[in-house]
Amino acid sequence: MRQPSSLNKAGADACRSGTRYDGTFVRRALAKFAKAWHIGAMVTLLQNTAPTPSEHPDARERPSGSLTADRPSLLGLERPALGDALRSIDVPDRQIKMRTQQLWHWLYVRGAGDVDRMTNVSKAIRDRLRDGFTFDRPEIVSEQISVDGTRKWLFRFPSRGAGRPVDVETVYIPEEGRGTLCVSSQVGCTLTCTFCHTGTQRLVRNLTASEIVSQIVTARERLGDFPDAETPAGAVVPSEGRLVSNIVMMGMGEPLYSFDNVKTALHIASDGEGLSLSKRRITLSTSGVVPMIERCGSEIGVMLAISLHAVRDDLRDLLVPINKKYPIADLLDACRAYPGLSNAKRITFEYVMLKGVNDSLAEARDLVRLLKGIPAKINLIPFNPWPGSPYECSDWEKIETFAEVVNRAGYASPIRTPRGRDIFAACGQLKSATERMKIRDREKAEEQLA
Ligand code: SAH
Ligand code: SF4
Repeated sequence: MRQPSSLNKAGADACRSGTRYDGTFVRRALAKFAKAWHIGAMVTLLQNTAPTPSEHPDARERPSGSLTADRPSLLGLERPALGDALRSIDVPDRQIKMRTQQLWHWLYVRGAGDVDRMTNVSKAIRDRLRDGFTFDRPEIVSEQISVDGTRKWLFRFPSRGAGRPVDVETVYIPEEGRGTLCVSSQVGCTLTCTFCHTGTQRLVRNLTASEIVSQIVTARERLGDFPDAETPAGAVVPSEGRLVSNIVMMGMGEPLYSFDNVKTALHIASDGEGLSLSKRRITLSTSGVVPMIERCGSEIGVMLAISLHAVRDDLRDLLVPINKKYPIADLLDACRAYPGLSNAKRITFEYVMLKGVNDSLAEARDLVRLLKGIPAKINLIPFNPWPGSPYECSDWEKIETFAEVVNRAGYASPIRTPRGRDIFAACGQLKSATERMKIRDREKAEEQLA
């Protein structure tokens, strides 16, 4: 298979952009990448690009947080709950609104992870806040940086109650003009899509709203994306605008199976006086939990992406087994009724390109026919292999011919550039046990990529 031009494109994008992109870094990295596309060099590359946090020049001294959450976190509470938290430490009723505003500003505009930074909050309240609540970020188990600038963090969150600490992957994808954070909603997944690495990991638990918001805040902190913070030297970030400008709920897990937590977290992420990400720049991807789709539109109001991947029920039953419960026709009906759907607010249909499985021209034509009348974008995702995966990525020529049919039907630039494949950060490669990946398995996966 010809290597998709993605990495070259990413590099070219990176090199074109302005001061914040370190062109030399990217060019050097890409040259290194071209040489390193075999296992020996790849291991070296991974060692070079994936230092442990303590070795990494960006790694800062930080409170890693206790591995048991003894105090509740203030991150992830909506304003009324934050008010209740303040009441619980005896802040008088008449101050609640003002103190809530102050905390909100410190947590989400300034990114304060330490109560002592909150200088306009009285010392007495700061002391009570410190005793009653935590501001800790998750422990950063690892931070890997791909040659294309993509970053992947393995975050460890403390146990909740009797459970164990959980490891969660979050990925940052810098591009010209935007920086996208791919956020996880669950540890593992109950669904078992056969092409997805996360699908091989049993569900451990849903992530709390606090843990979802924490991924965003910690990533921004690591990137120096808060006022008075510095971006690490050599980091690949957009040349202008916000470093994290977009959120996609496309990490580990099915977000509509963790609806309340995701809803709270996305309300906080899109709050105009806080993290302030426009709902147009937040996309929630679902495998097709039909009964929750309406609520996603009416109660969260973000952009929707559907993991379609097949145009016939018999094949989709195999690839995305939730299809047996909610077949394609029901799924598309729910899409047609998605609140706010319009040509300006289209649904993205994701279609993973699996060699010899779903990549024929007839299927491309059927795809276009199936989506007729739905304001839609189509995203063809070259399959990202993982150790032991039962599929191969379609040949690049095949993807291009498939894309041509889709293009001719009026859908622009439908191929999604795979990013961060060298650090297993691309779509569907996430699984929190990656640090235990055996060299042999990695070798096999890399052979498939080559
Ligand atoms: N559970 C949600 C969101 C997480 S998966 C969902 O299924 O939509 C995010 C996207 O990555 C989905 O479109 C998913 O189908 C796709 N994906 C999963 N495994 C993949 C792989 N190995 N290669 C390419 N895309 C993959
Ligand atoms: Fe779960 Fe989505 Fe992976 Fe399917 S594709 S197993 S729903 S994370």
